[in-house]
Amino acid sequence: MLTGEEIAEEKAKVLRERIQELDLQPSLKLIQIGNDEAASIYARAKIRRGKNVGIKVDLEKYEDISVEDLVKRIKEIADDPDINGLMIENPLPKGFDYYEIVKNIPYYKDVDALSPYNQGLIALNREFLVPATPRAVIDILDHYGYHENTVTVINRSPVVGRPLSMMLLNRNYTVSVCHSKTPDIASMARSSKIVVVAVGRPGFLKRDMVTPGSVVIDVGINYVSDKVVGDTDFNDISNYVEAITPVPGGVGPITATNILENVVRAAEFQKKNMGV
Ligand code: NAP
Repeated sequence: MLTGEEIAEEKAKVLRERIQELDLQPSLKLIQIGNDEAASIYARAKIRRGKNVGIKVDLEKYEDISVEDLVKRIKEIADDPDINGLMIENPLPKGFDYYEIVKNIPYYKDVDALSPYNQGLIALNREFLVPATPRAVIDILDHYGYHENTVTVINRSPVVGRPLSMMLLNRNYTVSVCHSKTPDIASMARSSKIVVVAVGRPGFLKRDMVTPGSVVIDVGINYVSDKVVGDTDFNDISNYVEAITPVPGGVGPITATNILENVVRAAEFQKKNMGV
């Protein structure tokens, strides 16, 4: 079982050391619009884990806000030297174009790393701040020693599959990317050592899509009768494959810490280059 909590703890320890060297308390601003339960859970995890490593995490919540006012607020935060990182929680209200909004965050405060500049740096193999979920997948592969292998990623979204496939390429993995129009996902998944699944459908990855040598990284988060489950048919394949991440307890615990890792990186950059 490839579990994530101890990886998050190891990373937190390193962050505490880096913060001591920084000699300033890094700070993160979260903006949440509305009351989505999953977004609230993710925000609380960052506040709790932030406190644990010594990062000030402040949640600014709006019941409602216009696009113009949100962009105005982002620009104020961009100019505030006391805030090192800014993250706009998903989902945004209907009619908001996420990428039109996050492009207003300066790249050196974009700790969700979904703005065009940081995604471009990943594509050019010049990673600076990287998205938390792809980073968590790589943390698991690093920790358990699966380097430079063949990987099939089942997802092509800007949050998971696109940055992940490039971050894997940057680390000499050989990558195939599948999506809803891919003709024979099962044979592609079987032909790779590692399968990363993030389609958002419980039970999607079944035994015919893996081999006894497969390593399965399950990124999916689905709510089924008030329980969180991933995208694999876990009971069917967990004893069949070589290794698998549980949901919850696999990728999830590392993601909040990876946002904090970006906050520290951002603060280090700002201290060195902008004298904050
Ligand atoms: P998304 O934007 O909806 O992307 C889903 C991807 O799955 C798309 O590329 C889609 O293909 C593909 N897909 C959907 N149905 C498929 C099918 N039947 N066969 C093959 N591919 C299929 O969602 P997302 O934001 O990337 O999130 C995906 C999942 O990961 C969700 O469960 C989400 O909750 C979870 N997630 C977890 C974390 C974490 O930290 N653990 C973070 C982010 C997301 P098309 O592109 O062709 O539509």
